Amino acid sequence: MADLSFPLRCACGRLEGHVAATHRAGRAICYCHDCQAFARFLGPPEATLDALGGTDIIATAPRFVQFTAGTEQLQCMSLGPRGLLRWYAGCCRTPIGNTPRNPKLSYVETDEPIVPPQVLTAAQRQALRAAP
Ligand SMILES: [Zn+2]
Ligand SMILES: [Zn+2]
Repeated sequence: MADLSFPLRCACGRLEGHVAATHRAGRAICYCHDCQAFARFLGPPEATLDALGGTDIIATAPRFVQFTAGTEQLQCMSLGPRGLLRWYAGCCRTPIGNTPRNPKLSYVETDEPIVPPQVLTAAQRQALRAAP
């Protein structure tokens, strides 16, 4: 059986997991102010943003996201009282993903309860590009 899962891994490797069923995940590049602010919060924005200031994200349902190690490193912040919850690895400040505050809220046309976009690092973008 083909392994369709996409590896999630922070830069230092303490936090590990995967996104299952990537064929059900959507991909987009977000240029919004908040994503850029989040990248600046994490460190050098070039580590997260592309040349045009975009954030590469995978949107999927949380039940497809699984962590296998280092969940104690998972940290959460928000850019405002009504902003998205933005998750990152506290050990090395690798962005992990975003979730809406209201778990019943659905962003896109989907029957899934939540759509947390996975923020990709430059290395993950390359891994995805190399995938068949
Ligand atoms: Zn780490
Ligand atoms: Zn954004």
